[in-house]
Amino acid sequence: MIEASPKDLDAPYWAALEQGRLNLPTCKNCGVWHWPPVSRCAECDSWGLDWHDIPLEGEIFSWTRTWHPFGGTEGLEKPFVTVVVAIPAAGNRRLMGLLEGVADTAPVPIGAAVKGRVSHTRYGETEIPTILWHLAARDGDAQ
Ligand SMILES: [Zn+2]
Repeated sequence: MIEASPKDLDAPYWAALEQGRLNLPTCKNCGVWHWPPVSRCAECDSWGLDWHDIPLEGEIFSWTRTWHPFGGTEGLEKPFVTVVVAIPAAGNRRLMGLLEGVADTAPVPIGAAVKGRVSHTRYGETEIPTILWHLAARDGDAQ
């Protein structure tokens, strides 16, 4: 009997983020990347995921700048930039996060290389791990 709990499918992702790592799943059978995680692979109909540590590196797919407060953003200084980042090492699956280090009115270049780090954001009464992205240096980004 299979006991898949959709609520817990992403638990390895959150556990890794708490340790400052990015962990994303592939299908245990065919290896296709999934995000968000799925209980059954749509490509090969098999069950089960393998989880992989991958670098916090990606490319900006889209972004938006928020100037006004709304529920859940009380802990963020305004304005803030939310980005959707494609992760090449994970089949270009996309993750959301915050972009740090950009001026309040600066445009954000689509396709720009970014690197991330894990921080925390207050959401209501809870501190949740959050990926903070920054633009990677154009001539290499020594870490
Ligand atoms: Zn599969």
